[in-house]
Amino acid sequence: MVSFAPTSEETLEDQRLYTQARLKEVACLDCLARVGVKKNSEHHTSIQWTAESLEQCAEFRKMDSAPGGRHVYESCSRLRGSIDRAVAEGEIEIGAQDGY
Ligand SMILES: [Zn+2]
Repeated sequence: MVSFAPTSEETLEDQRLYTQARLKEVACLDCLARVGVKKNSEHHTSIQWTAESLEQCAEFRKMDSAPGGRHVYESCSRLRGSIDRAVAEGEIEIGAQDGY
């Protein structure tokens, strides 16, 4: 049986922070990484990576070991697909609200 109930103080705190910042949690289709996503407009997507999700994303790990290292904290290509799908399904609202 799978339980989605928060199991630690830390998880509760994370959820509170995500809610406050209007971030929607999106999981990468390809790895275990979960990031906070906020879409201010059609073309502006804010993605908040945690140290944990950076480690879990295989694409980012690859970039780390690539010559020149990692340049951007935008998203891996799979995660971009996950976000597009979440937006298409209405899970992520587009538009700034209350100044956010
Ligand atoms: Zn990924």
